Amino acid sequence: MATVDSLKSLLVEQIKDIYDAEKRLTKAIPKLAKASSNEELVSALQEHLGETQNHVARLEQVFELLEERAKGKPCKAMQGLIEEGDEHAKEDYDDDDLRDAMIIGSAQRVEHYEIAGYTTARNLAQQLRHSAIVALLSKSLAEEENADVLLNQVARSLMSVAKMPATLEQAES
Ligand code: FE
Ligand code: ZN
Ligand code: FE
Repeated sequence: MATVDSLKSLLVEQIKDIYDAEKRLTKAIPKLAKASSNEELVSALQEHLGETQNHVARLEQVFELLEERAKGKPCKAMQGLIEEGDEHAKEDYDDDDLRDAMIIGSAQRVEHYEIAGYTTARNLAQQLRHSAIVALLSKSLAEEENADVLLNQVARSLMSVAKMPATLEQAES
């Protein structure tokens, strides 16, 4: 266990967690995109894959600014979120829209987790008056928030009455 003895080491711990999470996502997002049917969803995921690769690169810059080796610490939370997402995507669905809606649920959970991590890290960097790190983290944070908004838009259009079997009762009868 690392000794956390200062705000700086707290920040390093946060960055290690996010770094591991982002690297896992560069492998997980393509799988979710592959399991998705809706074109808007596929392109939202693909676009966010590109952003995620930039997030990894930005975190490497953060490590450099902190004079730390770029090394992640296994993020069990992201491991779990990805595992659940894979399981849900593999289940049987009557309709591709239903699977897509489930995939969006998994993806939004991921984005919210990342938003929490970046918010904590950015607040620490602000407290440490490290403006270069604040700028890097703020950029990625804004992209996570944007990804969540886009996913939400696709979810709402998927869930619109026109596209989904209107109610469970109707679907069963
Ligand atoms: Fe990210
Ligand atoms: Zn974690
Ligand atoms: Fe993300």
